Amino acid sequence: MNEKILFTDKEISDSLDVLAKELDMYISELPKDEQDKVIFIGLLCGCIHFVSDLTRKIKSDHKLDFIKASSYLNNKRGDLTVDMNIRSIKDNHVIILDDICDTGITLNSVVTKLSNDNPLSIKTCVLVNKNIPNKKHIPDFKVFDVDDVFIYGYGLDYNEYKRNLKDIRIKIDW
Ligand code: 5GP
Ligand code: MG
Repeated sequence: MNEKILFTDKEISDSLDVLAKELDMYISELPKDEQDKVIFIGLLCGCIHFVSDLTRKIKSDHKLDFIKASSYLNNKRGDLTVDMNIRSIKDNHVIILDDICDTGITLNSVVTKLSNDNPLSIKTCVLVNKNIPNKKHIPDFKVFDVDDVFIYGYGLDYNEYKRNLKDIRIKIDW
């Protein structure tokens, strides 16, 4: 398979240093008595390496939980399924972590569902944001921007494989 590395592991790691500082700053600007009420919620499976690497660079105290959300089947969009079996987020500042925001349908749907639990706030943070028109959600924090291309590696799958790549790649002979 002919492929090209879009973002190297070094580029990803350096960018996560910057994002972690940004998130620490955001948390430090919350009201003092709410700074220990921060919960990161990762959207499995794509978020795994992003969550693991990012949260270990964040200095602020926080809780961590996961939701299983999936919408792709064989590289094509299927029905969105969201498993909301998580701890209570009531009176917490929620920061949702996902691998990529494409149409924004997934994040829009997860934010709507989580809002029902009366959190203090909900922010979204993604590793990659796709620049496409008519997005249903614009992430509050992001690391990389890409055009409307299919990418994989570093948690992002290629037909369920390739999540273990340390970098992010794009196939160049479709
Ligand atoms: P959205 O609902 O924003 O269109 O898509 C969100 C989900 O679709 C992402 O969390 C990710 O799992 C999957 N997705 C979207 N674009 C890509 C891509 O380029 N590569 C891979 N592997 N997954 C993608
Ligand atoms: Mg995903």
